Amino acid sequence: MSLQSIAGKGHAAGTAYDVVVVGAGFAGMYMLHRLRGQGLSVRVYEQGGDVGGTWYWNRYPGARCDVESMQYSYSFSDELQQEWDWSERYAPQPEILRYANHVADRFKLRPDIQLDTRVDQAVFDESANSWSVATSDGRSVTAKYVVLATGCLSNARMPDISGLGDFKGKVYHTGHWPHERIDFTGLRVGVIGTGSSGIQSVPVIAGQASHLTVFQRTANFSIPAHNAALTPEEREAFRANYPEIRRFAREEARNGIYSEMPDRGALDDGDNERRARYEARWARGGLTFMSVYNNLVLDKVANDTAADFVRAKIAEIVRDQETAKLLQPSNHPIGSKRICVDTDYFATFNRENVTLVDIRANPIEEILPNAVRTGGKDYEVDALVLATGFDAMTGSVAKIDIRGRQGQTLNRKWAEGPKTYLGLMSAGFPNLFIITGPGSPSVLSNMMVSIEQHVDWIADCLAYMRDRGFEAVEANQDAEDKWVAHVNEVAHTTLYPQANSWYMGANIPGKPQVFMPYIGGVGAYRRICDDVAAKGYEGFTMSAVERPRAMAASS
Ligand SMILES: Cc1cc2nc3c(=O)[nH]c(=O)nc-3n(C[C@H](O)[C@H](O)[C@H](O)COP(=O)(O)OP(=O)(O)OC[C@H]3O[C@@H](n4cnc5c(N)ncnc54)[C@H](O)[C@@H]3O)c2cc1C
Repeated sequence: MSLQSIAGKGHAAGTAYDVVVVGAGFAGMYMLHRLRGQGLSVRVYEQGGDVGGTWYWNRYPGARCDVESMQYSYSFSDELQQEWDWSERYAPQPEILRYANHVADRFKLRPDIQLDTRVDQAVFDESANSWSVATSDGRSVTAKYVVLATGCLSNARMPDISGLGDFKGKVYHTGHWPHERIDFTGLRVGVIGTGSSGIQSVPVIAGQASHLTVFQRTANFSIPAHNAALTPEEREAFRANYPEIRRFAREEARNGIYSEMPDRGALDDGDNERRARYEARWARGGLTFMSVYNNLVLDKVANDTAADFVRAKIAEIVRDQETAKLLQPSNHPIGSKRICVDTDYFATFNRENVTLVDIRANPIEEILPNAVRTGGKDYEVDALVLATGFDAMTGSVAKIDIRGRQGQTLNRKWAEGPKTYLGLMSAGFPNLFIITGPGSPSVLSNMMVSIEQHVDWIADCLAYMRDRGFEAVEANQDAEDKWVAHVNEVAHTTLYPQANSWYMGANIPGKPQVFMPYIGGVGAYRRICDDVAAKGYEGFTMSAVERPRAMAASS
């Protein structure tokens, strides 16, 4: 029986799809668009109440992108990139969510997306080469292929702090923010966590709260965004050059962002020249601060020059030198954790109504009904904001009960750390793809570039299989082993593993500490993936289903 396109017709128990996609963020939406364009029947399940993924969930004050919007946007449709007007250099969350909704409407994606529905289980049927997918509405469907577009930063991490459940005020997690506007005016607020979400929200909350206490375990490097409205001329300059900007971001940039490539190392310049270059980048703002020199993540001495520069800036901005010292990152090289991009973060600590508390020296002992206790002192608060991040890269995948060949679970296979071939598939789990999975550049890049690359690769792979009558594809164990070793080897030529970061799983107690993303750069990685495809999907085994003759004759 051939699979029929049932796009948009609603869904009954036992329905068979060509592809089930899990998640309707930017990855899931584009995957749907591509596969539908190939005539495949696709069902997308999204546990949230609407599309947008990250931008649906992270509605905290100050939430915005840290890759400039003209680049943090889809490139697959020139009409789309020419017609959408980004208002600011770094668009705020509501605007990015509007963009996601615009894409869903413009490309008529909604009929194939089932909202408010979790995928709980996916079990591979070896005899049929297909997946049985069980969802939270109590139904199950089958699909030849499953694509996990579940997101790298979609499983919010709740800290395990004693007493949190007894807190009498409201508790908010930045990654799970309510839809209604939260106004902290007149309240004493505590923010726990100073990663990217904490750094973005602190200045805004400080402007509302009667008092804000920031509980910091790790001081992080942050570069000013210098956010501003985009002028029509600036937008036009991008649009006119989009073909080259997008090409460069895909093929040449390490991180998927169009910017000048450094031609020298930090130690090739004398002190004055180096300082001038850092000053110029600081004045320009944004993530590309790390691209001033080509060896900042490779050479600790070079790295120190950039880290010292930022530490000096913090000391310049923050008046109280004890607070400044606490805010100066000292336990990891700059860039070895994702650097943050902020608006007035450090200056916020000059406000009378803001207190910084060091919970590395004195971890939070307990949360009382109206206070946070640390270092033998109670900090009274009326509301708590948990900016404690995510179980990154593997957290949302791990929450699905995925069973491959011989009933092996993906969680068991990944117990010592995620293992994939190219970040796209895991041996023993045929026809199961992951978008921006561990082992791919993913969170080290402009995610839009990485998402589009993976979606295109998967769509091309399915087209290749269909053209040749293949029905199953699986990563080979030896190809996977070699790739895992390569990912590790490349990571250890850099300073990244020196930080206790979420790239390493270090923010989750008990999670194996493995450097998860592939650090070789998006351009190099794309060439590897393209080369694998050009060689007939080298390292993957493709097969056709051998049906019993009688059945084949009657079908
Ligand atoms: C605050 C914040 C700011 C960011 N800023 C940037 C930036 O500036 N630049 C950048 O490159 N990246 C940024 N990122 C990373 C961002 O996650 C990606 O850019 C991108 O949005 C990921 O898209 P996605 O579709 O892969 O995943 P997501 O957007 O995370 O979407 C995944 C979806 O899958 C759903 N899902 C998960 N499991 C299931 C299940 N079992 N069943 C059903 N649905 C499920 C989730 O609910 C979610 O909606 C940011 C992340 C955060 C948290």
